[in-house]
Amino acid sequence: MNKSQGNEFDYIIVGGGSAGCVLANRLTENGKFTVCLLEAGSDNNSMLVKTPGAFSAFMFLKKFNWSFDAKPRKDIRNGDPLFVPRGRGLGGSSATNAMLYIRGQKQDYDHWAELGNDGWSFDDILPYFKKSETNSRGESELHGGDGPLQVTDRPAFYEISKRYIEASQQAGFKVTDDFNGSDQEGVGYYQCTIKDGKRCSAAHAYLLPVLSRPNLTVLTHAQVSKVLLKDKQAYGVDVYVKGAKRTLTATKEVILSGGSIASPQLLMLSGIGDKSELTQHGIDCVHELKGVGKNLREHVDACVLVKSKKTDGFTLSVTGLLKMVPDAMKYLTGKKGKLANSILEAGGFIKSNDNENRPDIQLHMLPLLYDDNGRDLKLLSQHGFSCHVCVLRPESTGTVSLKSARYQDAPEIDFNLFSDKEGKDKTVLINGMRQLRKILTAPALAQHYENEVHPGNAFETDEQIFAKAKERIGTVFHPVGTCKMGNDEMAVVDNQLKVHGIDKLRVIDASIMPTLTSGNTNAPTMAIAEKIADMMLTH
Ligand SMILES: Cc1cc2nc3c(=O)[nH]c(=O)nc-3n(C[C@H](O)[C@H](O)[C@H](O)COP(=O)(O)OP(=O)(O)OC[C@H]3O[C@@H](n4cnc5c(N)ncnc54)[C@H](O)[C@@H]3O)c2cc1C
Repeated sequence: MNKSQGNEFDYIIVGGGSAGCVLANRLTENGKFTVCLLEAGSDNNSMLVKTPGAFSAFMFLKKFNWSFDAKPRKDIRNGDPLFVPRGRGLGGSSATNAMLYIRGQKQDYDHWAELGNDGWSFDDILPYFKKSETNSRGESELHGGDGPLQVTDRPAFYEISKRYIEASQQAGFKVTDDFNGSDQEGVGYYQCTIKDGKRCSAAHAYLLPVLSRPNLTVLTHAQVSKVLLKDKQAYGVDVYVKGAKRTLTATKEVILSGGSIASPQLLMLSGIGDKSELTQHGIDCVHELKGVGKNLREHVDACVLVKSKKTDGFTLSVTGLLKMVPDAMKYLTGKKGKLANSILEAGGFIKSNDNENRPDIQLHMLPLLYDDNGRDLKLLSQHGFSCHVCVLRPESTGTVSLKSARYQDAPEIDFNLFSDKEGKDKTVLINGMRQLRKILTAPALAQHYENEVHPGNAFETDEQIFAKAKERIGTVFHPVGTCKMGNDEMAVVDNQLKVHGIDKLRVIDASIMPTLTSGNTNAPTMAIAEKIADMMLTH
């Protein structure tokens, strides 16, 4: 993995995550350019990463995860910090994520174009979703048939998933078999980035198959500390490879693909950001861009936890683990069974009220009692299921800012949840929880539903529901927007993802999204990288 061709390359890519792996593949494809991909974490060659059912089991291991904590806020989780998992190692967050394949809604991208980002409408980006995808259902007008990312239908193992979908229909919600079809709305089973019982991370899809290309160098355990700039032009990076400092130069471009937390941090450490903030940490401001680290957007998420009359879900108990033994055997011998699946089987996209013209809520259903990213072990040992409601297009924005000028120190992450002036995020969330309760009390779930563990059936008014929801509020691990694309004074990159005011420097990852897409963010990030790689090679 650690082959190296000297210190000079055409392109240097910082971060081997969802975007970085796509770029490393595409920019080396025609053989004309040398590329060095620098990844702070390991090669991620671990059974834990490969096994879909291990999702969440290794969430807290620093080897695979940066495991940040957000700035605590008194009214959120009673003052406990929100956990911010971010994948570390080849594949980045796609190596630790829940593998749900979702693109979002057409209007999300059309909105980016309306904001002045020419070339970013849905029709512009659709070819890149298709280019990246092999859908197990075959090629169609909307789906790809021979891309590197493997998207498959999953067998449903948990009865509660089936009942949840039936109950949704009884409660008046549509059922769909394709959240990425012409209309996202509906409840159903998720398609996942899993192939032959193994996780298909961005590394598995794009990077590992091309590692032998002579023009591609991949360095792992290589943490970049800053981008080197001269006369407002990027010419290389300082990087610590297994702790030893090296300086690498890029003749064409440096590309930041460190994700929504690390990319703005690296820009600031390199002297690009809000001058007053940089000065505070003793960093010379090379170029002032006030928007770096601002506009942090995240899918805020509340859960309804339900105690089950049945015992067919997953529990972290001696009997629960014993029940998994046959599945472990099936997995070890043939990559089949529950461990070959994401535990998130069912969910959907619904409207929080009848006046909405498109879904503004996403539902995730887990066949276990799950809160605090699995850290609430007492809850996990009981029988039940967890129904999550997330606000698809939150208006609150937060920040990623420096805690110090040291690259080793985590930045400060402040989601600033529910800070939007109109209070829309709160309203959508409460209405979404009410919609969910309609599903939970539909006849198809009667044999499972015993009572609400959280918020609790007694909590009925908006204020009661909201107060309880905040005690267990979470996010869906989709931070975006901290290096947003645009033309206004808070924009960091232009529509070619070039950093405003700096030559030979781009940011290509989830941080460039000006607003959140309506759904999980892995596929959109990879499509963004596909699109820019194509632009770089053809212009
Ligand atoms: C727990 C979890 C569950 C999720 N579930 C889903 C899901 O089911 N479906 C979905 O679509 N999306 C999901 N997501 C979100 C999705 O995976 C991310 O939006 C996407 O992977 C982001 O891609 P990225 O390229 O922006 O960043 P990442 O994939 O996070 O890549 C950034 C890479 O840069 C590296 N890096 C950072 N700093 C440095 C540095 N200084 N030097 C060198 N390397 C550095 C990191 O180690 C990392 O490998 C989930 C995310 C998480 C964390």
